[in-house]
Amino acid sequence: MYDVLVIGAGPAGVTASIYTKRANLKVAVFEGNVPGGQLVNYSEIENYPGVKSFSSIELATDMIEHMSKLDIEVKYEKVTKLEDHGSYKTVSTDFGSYDTKAVIIATGNVPRKLGVENEEQLAYNGISWCAICDGPIYRDKDVIVVGGGNSAVEEGYYLSTFAKSVTVVQNLDRLTAEAKANEKLIQQPNVKVYYETLVDKFLKDDKGLTGATLKDKDGKTFDVFADGVFEYVGMIPVTDFVKHLGITTNYGYITVNEKMETKIPGILSCGDVNDKQIRQVVTAAGDGAVAAQNALKYLESLH
Ligand SMILES: Cc1cc2nc3c(=O)[nH]c(=O)nc-3n(C[C@H](O)[C@H](O)[C@H](O)COP(=O)(O)OP(=O)(O)OC[C@H]3O[C@@H](n4cnc5c(N)ncnc54)[C@H](O)[C@@H]3O)c2cc1C
Repeated sequence: MYDVLVIGAGPAGVTASIYTKRANLKVAVFEGNVPGGQLVNYSEIENYPGVKSFSSIELATDMIEHMSKLDIEVKYEKVTKLEDHGSYKTVSTDFGSYDTKAVIIATGNVPRKLGVENEEQLAYNGISWCAICDGPIYRDKDVIVVGGGNSAVEEGYYLSTFAKSVTVVQNLDRLTAEAKANEKLIQQPNVKVYYETLVDKFLKDDKGLTGATLKDKDGKTFDVFADGVFEYVGMIPVTDFVKHLGITTNYGYITVNEKMETKIPGILSCGDVNDKQIRQVVTAAGDGAVAAQNALKYLESLH
C-alpha cells in the first residue's frame, strides 16, 4: 500500500512528489506520456521568478533529474480509473491496480481542437499543437497559427524566427497575450495577423495540407496557403478517469478548496487541472506543494 500516488508528472505533480518524498512517505508518480507535462510542448519561459529566460525543455529535464535524485518511483502508465474506498483508494492503469492511502491528481490540460473540416485527417500531418516539436520542419516555409492568447503569440513569435511567413488567425479584435509578447510578435516583418477571423476549413491535396479557408467578420471567405498549421485555441482538463467521483465542474475542471482538497477525503488535486484563475508553471508548482502538505496532514489524521 502506498502512502501517496501522484497522477501526472508535470510541474504540479513533480512538485507534489518532491514534497511528499522529502516527508518520507511511500510515493510513486504515474505518467502517461512524457514527464514535464506541457513544458515539453513549447520553448521559452520568461515569467518564472529568478530565471529571466529559460528553456522549458531544460526545466522539464531538471525536474526529472530532481525526481531521480530523490529516488522517486515513476510509473510510465496512463491512469484509467481512480476509485475511492474510504480509508484507501485504488489507481488503475492498463498494467495493473495500485492501492494507496491518498491520491494527488495533477493531470493538467490537453489542447482543444477547432472541430472544422479536414482537421482530423490532417492532425499530426500538417496540423500540430506543438511548435517546439514540429516547428523546425517549417524552416523557410509558410505557416498559420490559430489563436491570439499567450500560447499562440509566444509560439507564433518562435515560429517567425525561422519560418518564411506566419499568418495569425485570431477570432477577437485584438491579441490577448501579455502586452510585451504581443508587441514582439507584431513587430516581426514576416508576421501578418487577421483579426475577427475564423478558420472555416483546412485545405488539402493528395500530399497533405495546403492551407486554410478563413472567414472574416462579414462572413466573407478567402484562402491562405500554408505548409503547416499550429493550433492554440485553449485547453481542456484531463479528468475522464474521475468523472464518476463527482469532483468536477460542468467544464470538467476539478473543484478544490485552498488546501487543494477535493470533497473526497484523501483525494487532492493540483495544477492546471483545477478550477482556478491562473494556469502557469509557478502556480502549478505552488499548488503541488500545498497538495503535498495537506496529503501529509490527511495521512496523520488516519492514525
Ligand atoms: C504553448 C504553451 C506555452 C506556455 N507558456 C508558459 C509560460 O511561458 N510560462 C508559464 O508559467 N506557463 C506557461 N504555460 C503553462 C504551463 O506549462 C502550465 O501551467 C503547466 O505545465 C501546468 O502544469 P501541470 O503539472 O498542472 O500540468 P501539465 O503540465 O499539463 O502536466 C500534466 C501531466 O500529467 C500527465 N497525465 C495526464 N493524464 C494522465 C493520466 N491519466 N495518467 C498519467 N499521467 C497523465 C500528462 O502526460 C502530463 O505530463 C504554457 C503552456 C502552453 C501549452
